[in-house]
Amino acid sequence: MHPFLDFARSKQSAIIALIRELVECESPSDHPQSVNRFVDLLASKLEREGRVRKLAGGRFGRHLRCEFQLPGPRKQRDGNILALGHSDTVWPLGTLAHMPFRQKNGRLWGPGVLDMKSGIVFFLYAIQALRELDVPVARRVVLQVNADEEVGSESSRPLTEEAARASAVVLVLEPGTGLAGKIKTERKGVGDYTVTVRGRASHAGVDFQNGASAIVELARQIERLAGFTQLSRGITVNPGVISGGTRTNVVAAEAKAEVDIRVARMKDAPALDRKFRALRPFDKRCAIQVEGGVNRPPMERTPAIRKLFATARGFAKELGVKLEESSTGGGSDGNFTAALGVPTLDGLGGVGEGAHAANESILVDRIADRTALLAMLLSKL
Ligand SMILES: [Zn+2]
Repeated sequence: MHPFLDFARSKQSAIIALIRELVECESPSDHPQSVNRFVDLLASKLEREGRVRKLAGGRFGRHLRCEFQLPGPRKQRDGNILALGHSDTVWPLGTLAHMPFRQKNGRLWGPGVLDMKSGIVFFLYAIQALRELDVPVARRVVLQVNADEEVGSESSRPLTEEAARASAVVLVLEPGTGLAGKIKTERKGVGDYTVTVRGRASHAGVDFQNGASAIVELARQIERLAGFTQLSRGITVNPGVISGGTRTNVVAAEAKAEVDIRVARMKDAPALDRKFRALRPFDKRCAIQVEGGVNRPPMERTPAIRKLFATARGFAKELGVKLEESSTGGGSDGNFTAALGVPTLDGLGGVGEGAHAANESILVDRIADRTALLAMLLSKL
């Protein structure tokens, strides 16, 4: 058996215990004190392995960066290896009461177990494997754990980009795709638009003709913008939230739609943006305001990413695992690093299903090989 796999199997119960500890420390994005408590807990686990820093997170929790002390001579190979994770989850405080951590049917269950506390733990044990087996590592290795990934990475983005610029490769500890745990080598870019319509209020009974309904106008605009979707090009436009009006007997003065957009290629973003900006009112008494744009550029499958995946697939084969790749419409912090041209491999974390859903879980029998694969990537890239 490969020594990394052997190591990870021998540590499996400790790995599960640490995943449990992290899952049981709830860390919703919108509760900075809880995220900070999680970050402190994680920092206490990392302090033996390297130099830990906590970085200001603005209105969110603190971000964490750790540079590891690893075997081998002074780090001679140019460019760091950056591993990316996030501490926040989509689960509100108190979720554990009805969705506790548990081990059952060959899986670990609980809020954040897949997305992405298990990935962080695998990485930590990959580091321990390198240290305990005294395997030399040629590059400097940095882990960054962001506190606001689930809410758009507003405050962590510049830190992620700064760390990526010093790196030759980025490994993202997000969950793999599906129960095969496919690596993510392509992600759509993500954006949002807010379309606000201002009409003219009037009494719906007494003065109907003098009103210009923002709701009716918005409804027509929504039909138009939903038509910007082009599935064959990987462009989707989803009006996900609408609001407006005050009372049924008032012609609505204001209405607005919040729209999620996805693009597979960055070069499609400007044309889509122009279409949004070109929306004009059907009823000239109404005014339309458009705000927004792409906030996560797509991770496109560049030749460098293909090559990196092929390397990882070769390593996985040595561990007896057939590694596959996938593309997804969901974004991660890997979108930012890939867009800077730094080869990025995403989805290296837990193998399971149910991210953001009640059946969130990971497969116990994929813990060891994922941990071993990370150790191989760190030692050989
Ligand atoms: Zn995630």
